[in-house]
Amino acid sequence: MANNQKFSFFEAVLRNFDKAAKFTNWDPGILEQIKLCNSVYRMYFPVKIGDKIEVIEAYRVQHSHHKTPCKGGIRFSTTVNLDEVMALAALMTYKCAVVNVPFGGAKGGINIDSKKYTPYELEKITRRYTHELIKKNFIGPGTDVPAPDYGTGEREMSWILDTYTSMKPGEIDALACVTGKPISQGGVHGRREATGLGVFYGLKEICSMPDLMQKIGLPVGIEGKRVVVQGLGNVGYHVAKFCREGGATVTAIAEYEGAIFNADGLNEEEVREHRKKTGTILNFPGATNITNTAEALELDCDILIPAALESVINGENAPRVKAKIVGEAANGPLTPEADEVFLKKGILVVPDIYLNAGGVTVSYFEWLKNLSHVRYGRMEKRFKENQNRSILSQIEQLTGKTVNEKAKELIMHGPNESDLVYSGLEETMIGSAKEIVDAWQENPDIPDMRTAAYVVAINKVGTSYAELGIFP
Ligand code: GLU
Repeated sequence: MANNQKFSFFEAVLRNFDKAAKFTNWDPGILEQIKLCNSVYRMYFPVKIGDKIEVIEAYRVQHSHHKTPCKGGIRFSTTVNLDEVMALAALMTYKCAVVNVPFGGAKGGINIDSKKYTPYELEKITRRYTHELIKKNFIGPGTDVPAPDYGTGEREMSWILDTYTSMKPGEIDALACVTGKPISQGGVHGRREATGLGVFYGLKEICSMPDLMQKIGLPVGIEGKRVVVQGLGNVGYHVAKFCREGGATVTAIAEYEGAIFNADGLNEEEVREHRKKTGTILNFPGATNITNTAEALELDCDILIPAALESVINGENAPRVKAKIVGEAANGPLTPEADEVFLKKGILVVPDIYLNAGGVTVSYFEWLKNLSHVRYGRMEKRFKENQNRSILSQIEQLTGKTVNEKAKELIMHGPNESDLVYSGLEETMIGSAKEIVDAWQENPDIPDMRTAAYVVAINKVGTSYAELGIFP
């Protein structure tokens, strides 16, 4: 915890919860049950690295069982500790509730710097971690389903799947034990970009709300907005891509080694290529270097998108932030002190438990695909195309006019897997934005969008507990 922070990450989540709980009518017992982490598993296991034995520290926390399975990513980072994993697991519960994904929250973490290990060593660590989860029944399609998070991706999910399936031969739903897998291993199209795409859909929706935009003095619409993205990992890269394609201008991108700025806009793909080639984001053609990467957060822009780790904006640097909107693509990038500063400054914070929920939403679609053992669109794509063709030819016959080829293609197209995943995600992000904003408008005492999102989440989890009959 940085010196200037009053609260640990988990304490910050509790604080946000308490702020919102005041606006609900739940029995204190229910609130207490929702807040706590139900099951906490800390493990140490030995792995042979070179000729040495290293003891690895790892965690899996299941925050809530109000719905099962539990769901949440696995993080590889040296920041991993019990407090962090508990905070992230709790955020998963609220996130799933906000986007109506029927899971309890969980999170896992391994305290390693993945850059220090070879792929072979990482595989050994991941497989051993999975064994530990299996031994304690902390993984399974109906119990707890991990996914990628900071420092992990499709490769790690494949190793988890392979370890799980080899230990559970014949388990028909084994593919659903983990999400974020490669397509060839039962993954779903659209999962890789899902978090970034969800952030874009969410911001687009928020920016289309005249009342909110008027409050912060910005024109309606995402088009033309100046966006700063912190982090060019899977999430940051896709946020930048979809924002650029959606008509916004990505004026700066920040990474550990520094940041780059170009008022005319940056192309994330070119930036990524440049970084791969030169080993740094700096010195990108046409852009200005910002060697102190933290300064990127303080650039003049319309939307600031932290897309890396927690607590990057705190009481110290928040007063210097000039953005009008802060979109939390990362989990917990703002400390409670930063929230207070932004509330006073009138900066609109679009909270993580809503904005970055695209990842888990599409994980839910992947899990459903695995349980149904059929790819999305397989049954209806051709049928829909034939049906559209008949409608079109009837229209042409009746009107005596022909539809041009491009329009014909568009109208006839039957949905494939990514069409369905994208539209399912867009629908989810639009629907949840409305639920949050409605809750916010219903009670003028709710200070900010984060609190409104927590109110929505607490009410859903509370209803689940109450309807389970645990608290008569
Ligand atoms: N790690 C991601 C998150 O923080 C995704 C979780 C999931 O797909 O289960 O939301």
